[in-house]
Amino acid sequence: MKEILFVEPVFKSMVWGGNRLKSEFGYTIPSDNTGECWAISAHKNGDCVIKEGNFKGKTLSWLWQNHRELFGDRDEKEFPLLVKIIDAKKDLSIQVHPDDAYALWKENSSWGKTECWYILDCKEDASIVIGHRAKDKEELRQMIEEEKWEELIRILPIKKGDFFQITPGTIHAIKEGTLLLETQQNSDITYRLYDYGRLDNGKPRQLHIKESIDVITCPHRDEEVGGRVVVKDMSELHELIRSKYYTVERLRLHGEEIFIQDKDFMNFSVIMGEGELDGRKLQKGDHFILPYNYGKFQLKGNIECIISYIE
Ligand code: ZN
Repeated sequence: MKEILFVEPVFKSMVWGGNRLKSEFGYTIPSDNTGECWAISAHKNGDCVIKEGNFKGKTLSWLWQNHRELFGDRDEKEFPLLVKIIDAKKDLSIQVHPDDAYALWKENSSWGKTECWYILDCKEDASIVIGHRAKDKEELRQMIEEEKWEELIRILPIKKGDFFQITPGTIHAIKEGTLLLETQQNSDITYRLYDYGRLDNGKPRQLHIKESIDVITCPHRDEEVGGRVVVKDMSELHELIRSKYYTVERLRLHGEEIFIQDKDFMNFSVIMGEGELDGRKLQKGDHFILPYNYGKFQLKGNIECIISYIE
């Protein structure tokens, strides 16, 4: 089927959110502390609606249940990916996710959570939390008990265009002044390790110290990112990560070129510029899916997209 599936994002207010989803992307947001845009999602907490065409008004989860042929008849029970844009005006809590096995054992959920971050923009001197400095579980447990957070937690400087893969067991947190695009497994199991001692409505938010210690990888291992780069006359396609759960790429185009959608389905998020796909106008902030068997397509304009699919 040659139909582009444009989706309508869902927005979430968060204590740490800001207003850049409006000022940078032009979205109508629910509050001045909007933290998340669930851009391509079939999750029950934020199910995107199809904007136009034959399936206008249907949710992505409905489409997954009723027209699986659009997604190459994949056998996952739910749409397997979730794409978000996150505006962190303040620091997020420090957390860790379980892998599939722990999620099944402890939470009776079939999916753990692997996620990755593409830095869309950040303030000068911005940083991010990834990893820790404990050499083994025993030291980790001790540092957590003694609340040696500054020694334990590893903070890295970041800049626009950086990319990080966060595998299960990796301590991580987004820090203030960062706008990023997240591609993740469609799962929501998060263990909160540390919240800077902050109060939310007068009370500290729940922590999950035991589960965090169970799942944190010791010592920390950095994930290798970056892969093949395909440079043509008018475009550059950078593979950011190729993993079991997703492949993520950044496409930059200045001009006009033919590409091919030969995967089960392909998610697109326009993060800069404007253009056209097979004659349909595209602009920054658009999110869409090219379904199974879409085949060749023509892309035109000065435009930058983040693309994800499952190999
Ligand atoms: Zn996370």
